[in-house]
Amino acid sequence: MDFKSVIRDIPDFPQAGIIFRDITPLLAHSQGLSSIIKAFQAKFAEISIDNIDYIIGIESRGFILGAPLAMALGCGFVPVRKPKKLPSAVFRVEYALEYGTDTLEIHQDAIAAGKRVIIIDDVIATGGTAAATAKLVEQTGAELVAYGFLIELDFLNGRKSLPNVPIISLASY
Ligand code: 5GP
Repeated sequence: MDFKSVIRDIPDFPQAGIIFRDITPLLAHSQGLSSIIKAFQAKFAEISIDNIDYIIGIESRGFILGAPLAMALGCGFVPVRKPKKLPSAVFRVEYALEYGTDTLEIHQDAIAAGKRVIIIDDVIATGGTAAATAKLVEQTGAELVAYGFLIELDFLNGRKSLPNVPIISLASY
C-alpha cells in the first residue's frame, strides 16, 4: 500500500505554519493497519531484528500501531504514558519542547533488565519524544534494539537525537 496516498495533510494544525500528517484515514482503511504491520515486520526482518520481548508504544498513536505489531511478533506490549495515567510505581523522564517541557512515564516493573525491546510511534518529528522514551527504557535496564515509525519528517533530522540503533520508517516527508 502507498501509505502517503492515504495519509492526510492538515495545514496549520495544531498551530499556524505546521502541516500535520493525519493518519486517521489510513487507520480507517480496511487494509491500513494490516499493511502497516506487515511493512514493519518485513523491514525488521530485512535487517535481521528478531527475538523481541516487548514493543514499547508511546501514547497515544504508538498504542494503535504497537499493540497489533506485538501480536504479529508474538511478544508483549508495554505502554509509555503521559503523567499520572499509570497506577503503579513509575520511572519518569522530563524533556524539552520548543516552549516548556513534557513528561513521559513507564511502570518500573514492566520490563525486566536485559529484555529486548523496540520503540514504536506514529511520527518522528524533532525526535524529542522518542529520545525521552529511550531514557525510560534505559532506566528499566532493558536493551533498546530498534525504533519503528510510520512517518519520518526528514527535514527535522530527528534521528540525530536518538541512540545508535536501527531506525526504520515506512513513509517520509
Ligand atoms: P517529536 O517529539 O519527534 O518532535 O514529535 C513526535 C510526537 O509528536 C509523536 O508522538 C507524534 O505522535 C506527534 N507528532 C508530531 N508531528 C506530528 C504529525 O504531523 N502527525 C502526527 N500524527 N503526529 C505528530
